[in-house]
Amino acid sequence: MRFDVLTLFPGMFDSPLADSILAKAIEKKLIDVRAHNLRHWAAGRHQVTDDSPYGGGAGMVMKVEPMVAAIRDLREQNRNAQVVIMTPQGRRFDQAAARELAKDGRGLVLVCGRYEGIDERVHQHVDAEFSIGDYVLTGGELPAMVIIDAVARLVPGVLGDETSAAHDTFEDGLLEYPQYTRPAEFEGLKVPEVLLSGDHGAIARWRRREQLRRTLQRRSDLLDRIELTPADREMLQELIGAE
Ligand code: SAM
Repeated sequence: MRFDVLTLFPGMFDSPLADSILAKAIEKKLIDVRAHNLRHWAAGRHQVTDDSPYGGGAGMVMKVEPMVAAIRDLREQNRNAQVVIMTPQGRRFDQAAARELAKDGRGLVLVCGRYEGIDERVHQHVDAEFSIGDYVLTGGELPAMVIIDAVARLVPGVLGDETSAAHDTFEDGLLEYPQYTRPAEFEGLKVPEVLLSGDHGAIARWRRREQLRRTLQRRSDLLDRIELTPADREMLQELIGAE
């Protein structure tokens, strides 16, 4: 799957892509990430990409012409790609959105703003607007990298164990169960007995119960959004009763 990033700071993407799973995915050609310097599409000797806001006010606004020229060019290079703009005013990016963007491996063009943001007219040239949370960052590069990471790990083959994404937090609408590894006891803290039992049915039931418990305690809002099985509802009632 191809990711094109439109940014004033392409160097910001070097380090996060140089190690671990994403570096291997690039090496295996499962993903291709290209960070493009917006200045390449800016006119004139000074390659200006920002200007002061109409109506006055602090800061600078990213200009429409280089942005739209770059988006047109990148659409031309990958006709299937979806163009998404990073903005704190966009749809909240979550696991469901990551799945949607990863679907069919169509490719993404990620547009990063800086300063006071991007000229509003650029928004007419994009397919979606995403925010990674209700806070304001200095630029769209970190949000774009977050989206690349979340989408890339859903591209078939990127994760070593194909099943490992399936049980992650949010994948089935619940938080994940707690995980443990050796040693079985650390400073008096013991791994739950059932996980050492080798009884796969009992382990699966314990994990489901822990998923429900965690979600109830930490993110009860998620429980309203998913369809629970009768067994889940029974476990949940027990957990609520025990509180
Ligand atoms: N003045 C803008 C506003 O109030 O909506 C914020 C501009 S912000 C300082 C500069 C750029 O950072 C934005 O254009 C956007 O690309 C990016 N950005 C900042 N926070 C973000 C967030 N939570 N999610 C996605 N992008 C964000």
